[in-house]
Amino acid sequence: MPIKIKRNLKEKSTLGKIVFRTAIGLSAYTLALIGLEYYSDSKSEPIRSQEHLEQIMEEEIKKLGIENKNILLILDDNEKWNYPYAVKIGEESYEININPSKHKVVSVKHELYHIADGHCDFGAKFSSDSNIDHLIFYTCYFFYYEPQAAIYAATGLKL
Ligand SMILES: [Zn+2]
Repeated sequence: MPIKIKRNLKEKSTLGKIVFRTAIGLSAYTLALIGLEYYSDSKSEPIRSQEHLEQIMEEEIKKLGIENKNILLILDDNEKWNYPYAVKIGEESYEININPSKHKVVSVKHELYHIADGHCDFGAKFSSDSNIDHLIFYTCYFFYYEPQAAIYAATGLKL
């Protein structure tokens, strides 16, 4: 008996295809970014002491050419805190907050890159009360600033 195959696949709409491919692309991008950050974290040396971290920071600040900026480093062992961050706190002044028991040297390099490349200055222009400001900032952050900082922390390349 000959085999009969009945095709009954509905053609997806063009919009459906665009949404589907965008979702796949976004997922692949997010996984690649997370993978890169996870990889560089796994290869990084741990933070041994405050002196060790200060020495690393001095080297990185020179490498990035940001000796003119005031950078306040806050070592916060608060267990609730999961992500290191850098923010602008004044004219040419920034704060890096990091949990040394959870994060490694590579995170400090990553945050210093955000400062050196002006990402924190950009972030300071947006209002935390406005949803549209949040959307614009996080879109830029996610697709432009974060991958740059991740690549710098992993490879030392300034893009
Ligand atoms: Zn970052």
